[in-house]
Amino acid sequence: MSTTRKPVVRRCVSCACLKDRTRMLRLVRLASGGLGLGKGFGRSAYVCRSRRCLQDARRRKRIQKSLRIPDHSAIDATLAAELDTVEPHNCRTTKETGQDFPVG
Ligand SMILES: [Zn+2]
Repeated sequence: MSTTRKPVVRRCVSCACLKDRTRMLRLVRLASGGLGLGKGFGRSAYVCRSRRCLQDARRRKRIQKSLRIPDHSAIDATLAAELDTVEPHNCRTTKETGQDFPVG
């Protein structure tokens, strides 16, 4: 009869924090032995969407150990790509145009 629903929490492989899984990054071991992101069947691991946790997972090969994926390069590439998304660049580079756009 209760309408309160507890969020499903998962443990981060890096910091071991329990968090709402919707706020975490889900990494799935693919049947091919590679690494998938988000939804999918199979053994999975969770990491906070924070730069620190992603870096830690990458450096210490936490995902590799947790998911038992033999090839770390696939994990490394995936985590590296995610690292680009979790923290927006503070300073916008203008490499494309070589010009500064006036702000404000
Ligand atoms: Zn974490």
